[in-house]
Amino acid sequence: MCGVFGAFSKDGNSVLEDVYLGLYALQHRGQETAGIAWTDLFGNKNVHAMRGSGLVHTALDQKALSSNTANVAIGHVRYSTAGGSDFSNAQPIIANYARGSVAIAHNGNITNATAIRNFLENRGAIFQSTGDTETILHLMAHQSHKPPLDALVGALRLLRGAYSLAVLLGNRLIAARDPWGFRPLIIGQRGEVTYVASESCALDIVGAEIIRDVKPGEILVIDEKGMKSLKIPVTPRRKHLCAFEYVYFARPDSLIDGRSVYGVRKALGCYLAKSSPCGKADMATGLPDSGTISAIGYAEASELPYEKVIVRNRYVGRTFIEPTQRVRDLGVKIKLNPIGKMIDGKRIVVVDDSIVRGTTVQRVISMIRDSGADEVHVRIASPPVRFPCYYGIDTPTCEELAAARMDTETLCRNIGADSLAYISVEDMTEAIGLPAPDLCTACFTGEYLQGGEDYEMDL
Ligand code: AMP
Repeated sequence: MCGVFGAFSKDGNSVLEDVYLGLYALQHRGQETAGIAWTDLFGNKNVHAMRGSGLVHTALDQKALSSNTANVAIGHVRYSTAGGSDFSNAQPIIANYARGSVAIAHNGNITNATAIRNFLENRGAIFQSTGDTETILHLMAHQSHKPPLDALVGALRLLRGAYSLAVLLGNRLIAARDPWGFRPLIIGQRGEVTYVASESCALDIVGAEIIRDVKPGEILVIDEKGMKSLKIPVTPRRKHLCAFEYVYFARPDSLIDGRSVYGVRKALGCYLAKSSPCGKADMATGLPDSGTISAIGYAEASELPYEKVIVRNRYVGRTFIEPTQRVRDLGVKIKLNPIGKMIDGKRIVVVDDSIVRGTTVQRVISMIRDSGADEVHVRIASPPVRFPCYYGIDTPTCEELAAARMDTETLCRNIGADSLAYISVEDMTEAIGLPAPDLCTACFTGEYLQGGEDYEMDL
């Protein structure tokens, strides 16, 4: 999973600090690398980039950025899915090719990238990275008889899978979302500056108003003339907006396709309380931070008190390094710690957003039991994750997915819970509030994007 952000200022003011701030708000979408690309404000429209490893504030030199001036720029935070965590896969990727300068920031996973790469390598292309995003650049370069925007449209027409893009073509900003609408992408405005962002929380930080979501299959060209909408010439059978964005990935203060992520998470908890009540419990709690909002919904709907009895050390990041065996053994305890006094002798409902490998929930239950809980009932605000995601979320293979390996009863015993229940796909869909055929639920149902939109690879 990744985050993208872009800004174009009509009145020529520098947008580099805005892009830095936007990435800061999208940090939850990727912590491996961060990067910003911009075009020279005046003169020859060359593209430049600054990229680094780790979190935004360590990867990017804010001071050095502020010594540059650019009225158009894009940025990216990366969490590796396609291509692995090699630094050569850091984005935005940039090129000054025959027809001008290009920079691309990509969120999603292009499912036919290997086929395209083989096709292009057989025709002499030399790839610099192992990632899927570079295929877009090469597809453009192989159509150098076309103007850059036409070459980009021609490239996107050939892609299958998930891509939400912020692109620089010379000093134009382009936003593009795949025809299936897998990943979110939203447009905002503040005065003379137009923004594109993976999530609306990044528009908030720069003080921009939401204009609207980029439509699936839409290309928005933003330049000094304004904003022009084009269509990617692919007709999808249906939409595939990722349900897991609402369940776990997006920030709760974001709106995706008009739905509040916070509202959806709370509703997930309410539906879960109705389908899997736990009447004899003393309280409901959530695993911080991912289960907290659904736990509030669960508590409210089941008229149980909500207590925050598990505390998260907020300085532990995902990139935490585990140096010694003792520290490794501490595992989840370094991140989460129960409040013993609140738990002792109590029957507790623990709500979390999802079970992936099952390690977190197992360790938390054991900690809660060690604190003297009488009963621990687990409620999960998503259906069992049984299938890997090919569209940009980093899920393990089937063999590693706890719910793919065992049924709910066996898993319940395995994690040491007194009971375990999940929300159904139907209830999750209702809680999200979008029509079922608009959502991608492949990680729960195995219903992946169908082929059927085949084409001859012809450049
Ligand atoms: P696990 O211990 O593997 O069962 O992980 C489950 C926890 O990881 C849940 O509490 C989620 O909040 C979180 N999670 C779910 N999906 C992902 C993902 N793709 N990457 C990182 N964390 C995740």
